[in-house]
Amino acid sequence: MSIDTIKNFDIEITRSDPVCGMDVSLEKALTKHLFHIYGHKEYIFCSSECFNDFENDPHRYVSEEIYGEMAGVCELCGKEMRTGEDIATAMIKGEMHKFCCPTCASVYLKDNLKLKGEGNV
Ligand SMILES: [Zn+2]
Ligand SMILES: [Zn+2]
Repeated sequence: MSIDTIKNFDIEITRSDPVCGMDVSLEKALTKHLFHIYGHKEYIFCSSECFNDFENDPHRYVSEEIYGEMAGVCELCGKEMRTGEDIATAMIKGEMHKFCCPTCASVYLKDNLKLKGEGNV
């Protein structure tokens, strides 16, 4: 599966912001440099405010352990997903679908498009 194929389907990788809990696009956070490596883990943020809050007191957010809560199950393979893990999201006809990885998302999307007989959405 090439990156191009994945991009065509508009799959986005998100991870939750440890400060506000929002799902943040990994690509956008990396482009805007809104990430911080702490304790061998990479945290990403929705905004510079959250980034600064974390920088000022990373231990507070890391020790609260807001990560690890159930964030749903993969719509293709049924794997449990938890906050703080990378989650692949895809918009299908205005509805948000969540998957454990980009591969699951692209397989689901392909099947979905095949069933409906549509080449592109
Ligand atoms: Zn935030
Ligand atoms: Zn999956």
